[in-house]
Amino acid sequence: MTQATPITVAAGDGIGPEIMQAVLRIIQAAGARLRIETIPIGMSVYQRGCSAGIEPAAWESLRRTRVFLKAPITTPQGGGFKSLNVTVRKTLGLFANVRPCTAYHPFVRTRHAGMDVVIVRENEEDTYGGIEHRQTQEVVQCLKLITEPGCRKVVRYAFEYARKHGRRKVSCFTKDNIMKMTDGLFHKVFEKIAAEYPDLEHEHWIVDIGAAKLTDTPEAFDVIVMPNLYGDILSDVAAQIAGSIGLAGSANIGEHAAMFEAIHGSAPRRAGQNLANPSGLLLAAVMMLVHIQQPQVAETVHNAWLRTIEEGVHTYDIFQENVSREKVGTAQFADAVIARIGKSPARLAPAHYASAVEATLPLPPPPSAPQKKKEIVGVDVFVDWNGLNRDPELLARELIRANGDGLELTMITNRGTKVWPQGIPETFCTDHWRCRYMQRTGQGRGPMGHAQITNLLQRIAATGIDFIKIENLCTFDAEPGYSLGQGQ
Ligand code: NAD
Repeated sequence: MTQATPITVAAGDGIGPEIMQAVLRIIQAAGARLRIETIPIGMSVYQRGCSAGIEPAAWESLRRTRVFLKAPITTPQGGGFKSLNVTVRKTLGLFANVRPCTAYHPFVRTRHAGMDVVIVRENEEDTYGGIEHRQTQEVVQCLKLITEPGCRKVVRYAFEYARKHGRRKVSCFTKDNIMKMTDGLFHKVFEKIAAEYPDLEHEHWIVDIGAAKLTDTPEAFDVIVMPNLYGDILSDVAAQIAGSIGLAGSANIGEHAAMFEAIHGSAPRRAGQNLANPSGLLLAAVMMLVHIQQPQVAETVHNAWLRTIEEGVHTYDIFQENVSREKVGTAQFADAVIARIGKSPARLAPAHYASAVEATLPLPPPPSAPQKKKEIVGVDVFVDWNGLNRDPELLARELIRANGDGLELTMITNRGTKVWPQGIPETFCTDHWRCRYMQRTGQGRGPMGHAQITNLLQRIAATGIDFIKIENLCTFDAEPGYSLGQGQ
């Protein structure tokens, strides 16, 4: 008998305490060896004036145990509160969100009897940095940041997960036909890492048609890895079409820590009524047991749960006349699972966790690529301009006055589309313009410097035009690190 594993548990809000109690009762009855540290999170903490929803003492527990079983919390309405989930994910570096979406046909209603997909979602980057700005009267912006190490971590995790769990294929969804640099990087890293796993199939889908295929024929997929936003949306879609959001658990994986939770929220309207389905949190706890090296207990719990579902003992959310046999509450559902400990399902595929598979992933050190030579070759100056008829020719005439010092205006775009030179009047223009100045080449000119940019901005300021921000245009080993204008 191995020692008890310390874990941190939070009972959360709404239905959280009921489903957590049910889950702990089941896994302990199945022999889980746990030393539980309980921390408060969510509403009670927000109401004490802690805007993060989690207190310093709780971080000490999380850093000590590095394993977090978390019930859903209620996110307070209104501004001033930080998302607890995002805070925990980012603080602990939980870069991958893993969500198995499985159909339990014919016991839980679904149109996709054979569905068994695992979605691995990047968890820290993309537009989820929440870096947003209002730049003009008409235009707001959200920054989409994709990093090479971020892609490398989540993609490698997806391949490792597939290999360790006996899966055969990893698919990647991106929109790199449009976002050639950001999603393009994700795709490029995917192809590079796939080459290290010749035992696994790999494929790439543009996310729109991939999503259509996933919702129509989920059996065509096995493990799918995606950037954050697509993964957020499609993992809910996948869980729903598998049968019910209420049945899916998820793991948030870092290099040193992992958090396990149901994917649903705190369902406040169902709270305190012994109605909620504890299955999502229970399946998250099964993933946790595998992670903490108690695969036998995980297998016992998972199979007892499958048997319970198969025998038609269902909570209200998955109850169907003529399929279900007994409608039960949260506590009775837990009793039913406990009564089936030691049994396996007769019709559904039994769970099998042959050996412990740690969910955290000690990553190999980053490849030692030589630093590329970075040179500035121009600058995009974004301006707020609402001049006569929003005529790009007039704006260009003003901005050309700022030419000089080796820099000249070469292009203006509006929402990414080239409107000068040679725009057409049909293009709709807002008050937000990108004005591209490039370094004049030739005559023995070296790379341009920051001083040329600040001087340019001073000349633009002198024209009276309101600039909002700049983006330097750089090359990396002579390869352009910026996109062209649409229509350029
Ligand atoms: P929700 O998931 O709580 O509820 C959506 C619907 O599903 C409701 O009809 C609910 O009754 C039902 N439902 C959810 N879980 C169920 C279960 N286990 N058993 C039976 N029925 C269940 O989503 P919501 O209503 O949009 O959000 C409620 C609160 O939860 C919000 O404050 C939200 O911010 C929060 N939330 C928290 C998390 C988290 O902590 N991880 C995730 C999502 C939402």
